[in-house]
Amino acid sequence: MKKKLLLPIGILSAFLCFKGIKEKKVFICKSVKSNRYHYMKNCGGLSKCKAEIKITTKKRAEKYGRILCRIELRKIIEIKNLKKTNNRLEVQK
Ligand SMILES: [Zn+2]
Repeated sequence: MKKKLLLPIGILSAFLCFKGIKEKKVFICKSVKSNRYHYMKNCGGLSKCKAEIKITTKKRAEKYGRILCRIELRKIIEIKNLKKTNNRLEVQK
């Protein structure tokens, strides 16, 4: 019974995961001054945008020379450093 249920869920989640990587949605400010993209719609950097906010894909944003916003970039680095620290602590144990 359990096996029958698990298999379709596994396929579905793998499919969704793959699609998510391929077409990662990002938010961009359509201002000429803006050259960043954002993962979060409620990002502080995006809230400053006075122009139209457009949803696009990460791939397309990067194609137009946009880079990840500073606030979110810092968060990602912090998370990565945190993971490194945790790994180190686990090794020391
Ligand atoms: Zn942002």
